[in-house]
Amino acid sequence: MYFKKKITALVLLALILIVPGCAAGKDNNNQGDRPEFVLVIHGGAGTLSRDRISAEQEREYHAALDQALSAGEKILKNGGTSLQAVAAAIVLMEESPLFNAGKGAVFTNRKTVELDASVMDGRTLDAGAIAGVKDIRNPILGAIAVMENSPHVMLAGSGASEFAREQGLEIVDNSWFHTRHRLDAVTRQIEQEKNGTVGAVALDKEGNLAAGTSTGGMSNKKFGRIGDSPVIGAGTYANNMTCAVSATGHGEFFIRRVVSYDISALMEYKGLTLEEASHKVIHEKLPETGGTGGVVAVDRLGNVAMPFNTTGMYRGYVKSTGERYTAIFGE
Ligand code: ASP
Repeated sequence: MYFKKKITALVLLALILIVPGCAAGKDNNNQGDRPEFVLVIHGGAGTLSRDRISAEQEREYHAALDQALSAGEKILKNGGTSLQAVAAAIVLMEESPLFNAGKGAVFTNRKTVELDASVMDGRTLDAGAIAGVKDIRNPILGAIAVMENSPHVMLAGSGASEFAREQGLEIVDNSWFHTRHRLDAVTRQIEQEKNGTVGAVALDKEGNLAAGTSTGGMSNKKFGRIGDSPVIGAGTYANNMTCAVSATGHGEFFIRRVVSYDISALMEYKGLTLEEASHKVIHEKLPETGGTGGVVAVDRLGNVAMPFNTTGMYRGYVKSTGERYTAIFGE
């Protein structure tokens, strides 16, 4: 009897010590290991390879990604929120002509620029989005204003612009977004030039997650086409219980596969790790229907995943531990 009790106690002790480690799989599923903060960004996925990008361009992209990381890192280091860090990183990339968001966004078939953006707060599950806007200088700030200062989740077109103006956001002429290389791309229908949607996900010191995405959509788009980037659950999702995700790729497929929410749901309902869930969606489910692209994601424990099924994705992350990384092509 005594031995039985002792063995039961030992088994219980072993379970307590071992099981959390097993459940974690590759991840550091231990609150104590959680880095204080993490920021992960992307600048679009697509057919990126060394023979298409010059060494000079490669350097420029790395520098731009690094700047965006630094902007968000500074906020997180000083105890700012994940939402503020996501906004800061995305604003910098919207201002850079290198990316397909804000200045430097792709053209529609009518040679205008129409922008989409969204944001989600993993703590409250609040979300905001704008779609098909032609004049909000920083669309991500428009999305945040919708989330914070309106009873709605998504505003589109001229109504979104009117709201942004009322909110005191900067309104610009559509020509402000125009760049020569995007105009050439739509005129000559250069495939590679459609890349460059931007996104960011972050975990802050309080343990709160946030995600945001901003884009000009697909080059040569018609009829007011809206992609996945402003669609919560498809292009952007954040939930403190699971993870924060920002997507990039062929939006029609990402909407139909509800990519960002699917990653979160696989974690919530099936207990998959972030690595397993994001890999399954990007490398198994999305390709089943021909979808191309990738995501950046961070979970509540600070694990990072950046899977893509294209040849490259502009991406990077920074952690409070000092870890810092930027990359463009596949490993
Ligand atoms: N997902 C964006 C869209 O379909 C484009 C991209 O990420 O390259 O609008």
